[in-house]
Amino acid sequence: MAKQTTDIIERSLEHLLEEVAFLPQLQGADRTKAFHSLGAILSTPNHIHKSFLRIVRENGEVFRIPAFRMQHNDTLGPYKGGIRFHESVNEEEVINLAALMTLKNALHEVPFGGGKGGVAINPREYTVREMYMICKKYVQYFSDVLGPDKDIPAPDVGTGQREMDWMMSEYKSINPGKPYLGSFTGKSVMNGGSQGRREATGKGAYYTLRYLLHDYLNEHQERLVDTTCTYAQTALAKWKQPLSVAVQGFGNVGSVAALEAYRCSYLNNKVVAVSDRNVTLLNQEGLDISSLVLFSSSNNGELPRTSDELMEAGIQAEIRDREEILYLGVDVLVLAALEDQIREDNVEQVKARILVEGANAPITGEADQILAQQGVIVIPDILANAGGVIVSYFEWLQGRETLFYTEEEVYTMLFDKMKSTMNSIFHSYLGTGKPLRKICYSHAVMKLSTNLYIQGKLF
Ligand code: GLU
Repeated sequence: MAKQTTDIIERSLEHLLEEVAFLPQLQGADRTKAFHSLGAILSTPNHIHKSFLRIVRENGEVFRIPAFRMQHNDTLGPYKGGIRFHESVNEEEVINLAALMTLKNALHEVPFGGGKGGVAINPREYTVREMYMICKKYVQYFSDVLGPDKDIPAPDVGTGQREMDWMMSEYKSINPGKPYLGSFTGKSVMNGGSQGRREATGKGAYYTLRYLLHDYLNEHQERLVDTTCTYAQTALAKWKQPLSVAVQGFGNVGSVAALEAYRCSYLNNKVVAVSDRNVTLLNQEGLDISSLVLFSSSNNGELPRTSDELMEAGIQAEIRDREEILYLGVDVLVLAALEDQIREDNVEQVKARILVEGANAPITGEADQILAQQGVIVIPDILANAGGVIVSYFEWLQGRETLFYTEEEVYTMLFDKMKSTMNSIFHSYLGTGKPLRKICYSHAVMKLSTNLYIQGKLF
């Protein structure tokens, strides 16, 4: 998926170049030149920081672990984005994810740029003490380029509140007397974090689905009349019936999205399948998601994987292979695990009509084009999973003001922010029938291009 984001940025720019109503101040040769400049700026990261963390393991052995912080673009504000701990982390991937953050923030008018960090380890193979050392070392190695007004990390795959708490504490020790609450987001609430941050991505992901199939479509039925968007019409008809939902991934994003779908009173959902790194659980009558959340929270975040464990959890389900979640005949598939799950080689087996990208880049560029040709609705990552960074922004604001919002206030603000993005996106979507991803990227690139132009960066 390495070049995926920059490829789409370039395609958006080619398209915008032809749209005379966009940046009409730029005409003729000046316009062509300025668009080349935009391509050069947005397709490359501003800074690549990489290092090898020196870690002493419990047994005394010394290890060197590849670690990155990529700063893609800061046109709209300080760099912002998570730190991922995963064995597959590599330079290209982190650059791509940083670019995705630039677009996500631009799309939702969050005043941040895009950054991303990564450490190439499998966190499950390290003790708590070793994890603590890795977090400390990460901040020590990159402390010069991090800070509340420079670059603000947050959790991502393999990291959470615990890691952010440790990292902020190290940042504070390195920078005595300086403001530190805004240096990391996704911290625990007791330690200056925001209410609702842990749930924000999963709630936001489900919200995009509900808003499209219920709130927005219900209010704008007239927009469907003359469009080519037949799948959206099918979806509209569907919301009155049970909507079968499958959720890949049962971590912070997937488990919350599944619970939202399970509890939602606006759509008549049946969450028929969930999966994690070990299994898929399937029940055509619907799974009891509350019980599964309870089970996983007291079992290291894992779903039941034997019939004994299912019994212990009080769950009726068939145990299937973990990959099977992707190929079930459901209406909606929420992808809340890792990237590159749906590719050219398996896309034909996907039967869901609506895909929600709770994770970053779970669908490759090639697969995405095939899905678009088939008319499958894809709610793309920069729209669907932005709840996390939006509440990170609220956390950053709360840290600056040292004034904290209630959980209800956070959710209201989150939904208002996502709603205003969705109103502009869905308007174009139903008007043109173009894939949502294209429209989202185009909006984000327009925002960035306009600001780059205003800031005098194009010549
Ligand atoms: N890692 C999350 C993302 O990819 C959250 C980033 C943040 O809160 O800064 O959007």
